[in-house]
Amino acid sequence: MHVEHNLQLIKSKLPPKCTLIAVSKTKSNSLILEAYNANHRQFGENKVQELVQKYELLPKDIEWHMIGHLQTNKVKYIAPFVHLIHGVDSEKLLSEINKQASKINRKIHVLIQIHIATEESKFGFSFEEANQLFNSNFIEKFPFVAISGLMGMATNTDNEDVIRKEFHELNNYFLKLKSTYNQINTLSMGMSSDWKIAIEEGSNMVRVGSAIFGERMNN
Ligand SMILES: *Cc1c(COP(=O)(O)O)cnc(C)c1O
Repeated sequence: MHVEHNLQLIKSKLPPKCTLIAVSKTKSNSLILEAYNANHRQFGENKVQELVQKYELLPKDIEWHMIGHLQTNKVKYIAPFVHLIHGVDSEKLLSEINKQASKINRKIHVLIQIHIATEESKFGFSFEEANQLFNSNFIEKFPFVAISGLMGMATNTDNEDVIRKEFHELNNYFLKLKSTYNQINTLSMGMSSDWKIAIEEGSNMVRVGSAIFGERMNN
């Protein structure tokens, strides 16, 4: 894989304020270092154990993004170093992140995952559940957590209209929250297959794996 070339190509097509997260799950440290040596610093992983191992072995100025489903009992392992947790899908998880962050006196930045796909299997808050959270006193309730935006995954389909509609709805909700809360500024949506649609629909953070590092054997 021509990691540096792929990175440059994608970056050249992103809007100026859009951050590219290079999703390195299942990929080797040497492949990650290829991206690092091409000056890339933002990487995403979806498994806690793999994330911790890579954090320990790789340069310390990497910003590590936890993009997968996070179990409450594993928050403590990533709390000291994680840059942004994308997949917060319950108040229980928020409360555990707050607890672990308070123990080490660190403020942890998170995104609320919204369920926008038609598939049952995708995690996340419904819009209604998210409204409940944002209408509660979430800032005072979780003082060691900074909710800085939203994350969503579109339905896995070839129908671009479906994908666009889901991203569009999420962006509308994001813009509404952003106009109410100063701290809301990040909209994480778009992966290898749909990041172009996502940026057209307002994404300012895309999570791209296989289009940078090549296809994965599993997950
Ligand atoms: C794996 C993964 C990605 C990247 O997927 P690609 O299709 O390889 O770009 C993005 N977001 C999440 C949450 C993922 O788990």
